[in-house]
Amino acid sequence: MDIVNHWLSGASFEGESTRTAPVYNPAIGTVAREVRLASAADIDSAVAVAKAAFPGWAETSLAKRQAVIFTFRELLNERKEEVARILTAEHGKVLSDALGEVARGLEVVEFAAGIPHLMKGEYSENVSTGVDVYTTREPIGVVGIISPFNFPAMVPLWFFPLAIAAGNTVVLKPSEKDPSASIWLAELFAEAGLPHGVFNVIHGDKVAVDALLENPDVASISFVGSTPIARYIYETAASNGKRVQALGGAKNHMLVLPDADLDLAADAAVNAGFGSAGERCMAISVIVAVDTIADELVAKIAERMTGLKVGDGLRSCDMGPLITREHRDKVSGYIELAEVDGATVVVDGRGVEIDGEPNGFWLGPTLFDRVPPSSKVYIDEIFGPLLSVVRVPSFDEGIELINSSPYGNGTAIFTNDGGAARKFQREIQVGMIGINVPIPVPVAYHSFGGWKNSLFGDTKAYGSDGVRFFTREKAVTRRWLDPSHGGINLGFPENR
Ligand code: NAD
Repeated sequence: MDIVNHWLSGASFEGESTRTAPVYNPAIGTVAREVRLASAADIDSAVAVAKAAFPGWAETSLAKRQAVIFTFRELLNERKEEVARILTAEHGKVLSDALGEVARGLEVVEFAAGIPHLMKGEYSENVSTGVDVYTTREPIGVVGIISPFNFPAMVPLWFFPLAIAAGNTVVLKPSEKDPSASIWLAELFAEAGLPHGVFNVIHGDKVAVDALLENPDVASISFVGSTPIARYIYETAASNGKRVQALGGAKNHMLVLPDADLDLAADAAVNAGFGSAGERCMAISVIVAVDTIADELVAKIAERMTGLKVGDGLRSCDMGPLITREHRDKVSGYIELAEVDGATVVVDGRGVEIDGEPNGFWLGPTLFDRVPPSSKVYIDEIFGPLLSVVRVPSFDEGIELINSSPYGNGTAIFTNDGGAARKFQREIQVGMIGINVPIPVPVAYHSFGGWKNSLFGDTKAYGSDGVRFFTREKAVTRRWLDPSHGGINLGFPENR
């Protein structure tokens, strides 16, 4: 059986731990390979390598760092099909979706290639007579990144290109469920000329994560995953004196007003609800329909769902399997629960016809109508192809429902009324908003992150927040002395 090793100091690394975990091909339902699970000592070895590589990399000129990022971008763009196939084989998402994931990651590499501009400080001349003040930005050291299963390439790419461009060194702990893409990316970065030890990948579970959180040489933690773990990461890393940004789970609502184009809204609901089998943190999982158009909208969504082809992502299908058998069974359990809680099951994805192997982790697209907000189907982040419709009597009650959610990652409104859209944008308590855009993931030069239980910490991922997170500022007050500056004065310096 193949084994996925760690990547340390520019080479494959086995580490001392003998623990492993299975990695499945979810479209076939069998174990494809094993992945190593690091011990705390393995993490400490990686941090030591990254710490040793830091001074040299931080001193490397902006021009040279930029050139490596640029070469990495070119290689990644040329060979994106290769990594997309790895994503499909281990995650299950269809190939076109895997390519989309890589494209969004590439955007961040392109943003990071602008690092000379992004690292520029500010300058104020003659703030006091003969005195100038300026700021510089410096890298922070060894940064830890912990990523989830659902975007095995894009989420690591949200962080490591920018961290490395800024002069930091990295230890990435990817999801153990689909670990191969991160190794492929590390090999590619080495091929682009990145010095050994700057980017390291260590696989593992809680043992590895805790070792990263405890290691005093790790300056920061960037985490993406479920809300309970994000909260734990935030609290532990912060109490150990580290910078931390911990992005958590989501329950994203799409509000459809009576004036919206219901055909376009139904298309958007299906795309955002069932793309990547609903395993996206920006997936739409709840449609909030104003009563008067709810029947028509539900009918249009259901009609579109009949055309969706579920199967192996390497064939021409719309939707692949779920990540593991356990997760599929858990998601499927919510269909029974919806019935018990009084929702109407409009489309039942159990027993869906598959273009793939029978033992894959399949569950078809499922639609519930009249879901009570008290049901766990509405409350829980399910992370599967289950779309709920909640009916509300009015626009205001739709806003109230969305604002009462403990999550605040993404939301969307579908309307042709500019005034309504503006009111929604101003009143809604969510970090990323789409106006007639169902998955409003900001481009790389803005920043990605939610509010409330969807983000712990005060900086979002990538964009200017990413630059701030991976650098720290120095403010310099400078004057060149001449004899007129002499004399004793113990008072606090004033500007004159
Ligand atoms: P997860 O929380 O189970 O795992 C995330 C990472 O934490 C993995 O690397 C995993 O190995 C590690 N981990 C798991 N259990 C741990 C523990 N007890 N202690 C320490 N570390 C632990 O998440 P997942 O199932 O891989 O990913 C899906 C979740 O990620 C969903 O909740 C989704 O909404 C969220 N997500 C959020 C965003 C965002 O930007 N807000 C983006 C992608 C995914």
